[in-house]
Amino acid sequence: MPNVDLPGDLQLQTALQLLKQAGREVSVDAAPGSMTWLQAVVDALCELSSRDALTGLANRRQFEVTIVREIDRVARAGEPALVLMADIDHFKAVNDTYGHPAGDQVLKAVAGALQDCVRPMDTVARYGGEEFAIILPNCPPAFGHVVAERIRTKVSRRTVNVAPGVDVQVTISLGGAFAPQWVRSSVPLWIERADRQLYRAKTEGRNRVCLEPAAVYEVSAEEKGLLFGTSQFQDLE
Ligand code: GH3
Ligand code: MG
Ligand code: MG
Repeated sequence: MPNVDLPGDLQLQTALQLLKQAGREVSVDAAPGSMTWLQAVVDALCELSSRDALTGLANRRQFEVTIVREIDRVARAGEPALVLMADIDHFKAVNDTYGHPAGDQVLKAVAGALQDCVRPMDTVARYGGEEFAIILPNCPPAFGHVVAERIRTKVSRRTVNVAPGVDVQVTISLGGAFAPQWVRSSVPLWIERADRQLYRAKTEGRNRVCLEPAAVYEVSAEEKGLLFGTSQFQDLE
């Protein structure tokens, strides 16, 4: 680290080392130690802490922040929003057959394929090991199946070269659910709905899309409570 004159006793060595290691060195046209420079360090740390290291997608933490914001928007504006959970089919076999580094390459390729299929306003996140979550704000029900199918097809057509002469193809199963409009749902409830559909896609044979029918979903007792509770109107006071 260069000789940096930091305000007070601010210790940034560890933070700067972390950024350097991640290949995100602060390159801002400002004197090290200045407010502009410090802001750039904070911004870079925020970016680092919200991304998945392997795939570069939003990580689980960032996903949670985004989905809470989306639930808020659906409750306020009644915009239809879809959450998709996607899981690579038989991924363990990829690791077992070609090795863990090859599995990592496949994960990166699937992440890229998912990202290629969505709008800039959508959020693609790595939810867990070989599971991804996609938040699609302002997604009308008629469009939901089209976009999920587009994602499924794109992944199934992508070939990943994991070693000289060795190409791997994988498929994904997708489950999706729309947020109940005008109702303040909760993150676990919304995800549980999508997960239920993902489970259905798996048990019905994999490499398929199952969406909860948007028109006939049930509003749970808990969601009704949230709707008629005071929280809905708190910020109008
Ligand atoms: P299913 O079709 O039912 O989803 O089967 P599956 O084999 O995909 O599911 P399972 O849960 O049995 O296996 C998931 C595997 O994903 C096991 C785990 O080692 C692997 N995995 C999780 N995270 C990573 C990672 O970061 N890199 C690699 N290479 N593998 C990972
Ligand atoms: Mg899997
Ligand atoms: Mg899984």
